[in-house]
Amino acid sequence: MGYFPYECMECGGAYERCARGCEPGEGCDGDGSQFCWEDEVICIPVTLQVQKKTYSSTIITQIFEKIKDKPLSGTYNGTGDFQLKITKETLDNDETLFKEFQEMEDNKWPSSIFVDEDGANDLYNCIIVNVWCKSCYSVDEEDE
Ligand SMILES: [Zn+2]
Ligand SMILES: [Zn+2]
Repeated sequence: MGYFPYECMECGGAYERCARGCEPGEGCDGDGSQFCWEDEVICIPVTLQVQKKTYSSTIITQIFEKIKDKPLSGTYNGTGDFQLKITKETLDNDETLFKEFQEMEDNKWPSSIFVDEDGANDLYNCIIVNVWCKSCYSVDEEDE
């Protein structure tokens, strides 16, 4: 599978600017490239896309209700998926749901659960997110 950058809502992402600090003569020369994304991101879940009804999709639906429109910090893996930090507090201190989330992470959590719009496809249950480089995100976004 190939690597590709995400599109940041603010700067446009790695094709628009280098977030790796490449020096002249190495990497992208500072202009940005396929590999110059910022690892740390902020994602806001916007849409739930359930393609297959499974036990997991019930949990995903419950989790989505809790995290929709909330800015969550996370990291980008380079292939379209984001690993987001979800805590008990994120899930409104719902102990049961948090336990189920942890179990899913280990076993059943689909790898494409958090994707940007381009990464979504017909085969997987996924949560589509708006993405910012961590350094591009400002709290003003929450007021929109
Ligand atoms: Zn950015
Ligand atoms: Zn670069």
